[in-house]
Amino acid sequence: MTALELISLINQVLFIGLFVVVLWHALRRRTRASWNTALLLGGVAVAVALSRVAAWVGLDGAPAVTALTLILLSAVPFAMLRLVDDFSGSPRWVQIAGAVAFLALGMLTVAGMGEVTAPLAVATIGFFAAVGGYAAVVFALESRRAHGITRRRMTAVALGAAVFIAAIVGLFLGVLVEPLGPIVALIAQLLALVAVLAFFLGFAPPAWVRRAWREPDLRRFLERSVHLAGVADEHAAITELERAAAAAFGATGASIGLADADRRIIRYALPAGGWSEFADDVYIAGRAFTQQRRVVAHDAPEADPDHALAYEEAGARTVIGAPITTDDRRIGVLTVYAERAPIFVEDDLWLLELLASQTGLLLEARTLTAHASELRAREDATRLKEEFLSAAAHDLRTPLTVVLGQAELMERRAIRSPERPVDPAGLARIVREARRLRDLVAELLDAQRLEDGRAVLDRSAADVCEVVSAIRDRHAGNGVEISVRCPVEPLVSAIDRPRIEQVLDNLVENALKYGPAGGAPEVAVAHPDGYARISVVDHGVGIPEAERERIFERFYRASNAHDVTDTGLGLGLYICRRIVEEHDGRIRHDETPGGGSTFVIDLPLEPSVETAGEATPDPGLTLPHRISGERVADA
Ligand code: ADP
Repeated sequence: MTALELISLINQVLFIGLFVVVLWHALRRRTRASWNTALLLGGVAVAVALSRVAAWVGLDGAPAVTALTLILLSAVPFAMLRLVDDFSGSPRWVQIAGAVAFLALGMLTVAGMGEVTAPLAVATIGFFAAVGGYAAVVFALESRRAHGITRRRMTAVALGAAVFIAAIVGLFLGVLVEPLGPIVALIAQLLALVAVLAFFLGFAPPAWVRRAWREPDLRRFLERSVHLAGVADEHAAITELERAAAAAFGATGASIGLADADRRIIRYALPAGGWSEFADDVYIAGRAFTQQRRVVAHDAPEADPDHALAYEEAGARTVIGAPITTDDRRIGVLTVYAERAPIFVEDDLWLLELLASQTGLLLEARTLTAHASELRAREDATRLKEEFLSAAAHDLRTPLTVVLGQAELMERRAIRSPERPVDPAGLARIVREARRLRDLVAELLDAQRLEDGRAVLDRSAADVCEVVSAIRDRHAGNGVEISVRCPVEPLVSAIDRPRIEQVLDNLVENALKYGPAGGAPEVAVAHPDGYARISVVDHGVGIPEAERERIFERFYRASNAHDVTDTGLGLGLYICRRIVEEHDGRIRHDETPGGGSTFVIDLPLEPSVETAGEATPDPGLTLPHRISGERVADA
């Protein structure tokens, strides 16, 4: 046996084997595309078988056998043209022209009675090159539009088609130019070998090849989907998952329906945002969900005519769907659709089920995460309430005990000696402690209100220095001296004035509370880049380094606080921070040089002021100030 004969035998076995495989698929699927695939390979396989049988029975070279072989071979480009229509659609006139050319060539072959004349060879070359060449080019273009495994299979089909056409054209060229015959025959057999292998990969890739081709897409799906368990926005998570599933399939799109068992609906994320709801048995997806099985529709508009328009608008001709289920819980349904790819989808069902189960796990993880954070939020709320109650009970008891004790004392005195005048010192104590009680209750209510909503309401332009001066004046009225330093120019910020005054009052009161007895707090105003900076300085106990951030937390009292005073809810600074941050500002604690606390608040300046201010590195140090708080001009 020569090398040529060996290659030829291998080719024949492969073509017949491949034909048997695709014929088996076609009998099972009965789709136009699978019949056309069978026609394509059947043309070659039957021609090969025919010439073998003819050789056995001694009819080798008989005119009828040759004519039939030629007709069978020219069915191949014709079948390719029909497959092009299945894959991507082609103009009707192209299909008609192809069919007419096929018929004409057939008639020419019959008329020639099996003799391959030069005109017949030229006509056959022309037919293969035009029709087959067109199909190969469209397959190649189509493969560039496809993704994932579909792309690889389309590329293999395009390669197989191009090489097969080249082999046949070569063979007929050998007929026309006789001296080239033997070499052309060898090249043609080699090309045919490449073609049949490419067709194998394109039309019936073995499972291990499919798995290898799928792997990168599948890995990408898993990588993209894993982090979605923690994404809070359900719509974003679902649409991202759909995109990942479509990419893993090389499909036009994918959709995930989430079932609501009580309402018997399935809802889908709309691409533009929001959700749409349908009864849970509507669409092909609904069938997969209610019947809890995989559904394949090669022609969705035909399979579900009530919604034909919706499928056509979405570019969904082929639709496959699988239920998403975990531990018998029906979560929803995953569907993948493509404009055309009818021959590939059934092999993809295992992948669809894999993606559906992965999606199920992910959705379950999302539900668990959401449930856990809901529980945590509820626990937080309960803990907060408990903290609130115990803090309130503890802090309200001290002044209440004083008020009650003093009042009972006065009551007893009044009963015993009604003629004695009321003790003014006792009354003053009652009033002072009752005020403290009122302030504590107000603070508690304020913090509670902050939990429910916003602190800052109406903001209007105000000069920060003027606000600081008003605080100083108010405290001066109560006999407390505060020194204030302000720059010359007004520092205008958009503020909710009562709220900012509340912040400053709180800081000044803390400075008095935790400062040295009789010490006067100092307030300085400056304007580093774009901000009005207010510093409230005391020289008191200070705050241990490790606790500086925590003092702004709800109910947090630093370890030093108890040495100084037993009262205080640990809410004041928390409220301050909330108010300042709602002004787009910031608050922090610094150590006062030499000991003590400095609280620094930055509030954004109104833009006009910001541009007018000089960009000094630390204006707090360089701007002219006067301790009394009155503004002075630059001398
Ligand atoms: P409290 O009602 O306890 O004063 P705050 O929220 O106002 O609550 O303050 C929280 C804690 O921060 C205080 O308990 C105290 O430990 C610390 N703190 C606040 N201001 C000062 C300050 N000027 N000097 C030292 N420690 C302070």
